[in-house]
Amino acid sequence: MTDHSAEITHAEKDQRPLAASLLRGWRRKCPNCGAGPVLKGYLKVNDSCTVCREEFFHHRADDGPAYLTILIVGHLMAPMLHIVFVTWRPEPLTLFTIFAVGCVGLSLYLLPRLKGALIGFQWAKGMGGFGDT
Ligand SMILES: [Zn+2]
Repeated sequence: MTDHSAEITHAEKDQRPLAASLLRGWRRKCPNCGAGPVLKGYLKVNDSCTVCREEFFHHRADDGPAYLTILIVGHLMAPMLHIVFVTWRPEPLTLFTIFAVGCVGLSLYLLPRLKGALIGFQWAKGMGGFGDT
């Protein structure tokens, strides 16, 4: 009996579409139905979907979204800082102001979207508690 239910769980996990789950998560929607919000407020994760009742409380996003945000923002802004400085040589205070606002703005934009996408990834791959029925 236990082996049979484990096979069903494994088969269900294989049927979860990864690309659609990532896209729904990026839109901060439920990876299962794409309609209900996965986040309440800015970063707090709903315990379950308000539309399809899919449970999210056992996600393990942890520091993953912050790591990905720093990775992307750093790899975009560091070369741009170099290019802008070499090309236009702006005043230091102007350069600092533009890149400080740019880094903070891009980080605030990416963080909840990457958190949703990471939860969608975990849901699609059956990681953490998402694989249990
Ligand atoms: Zn849902």
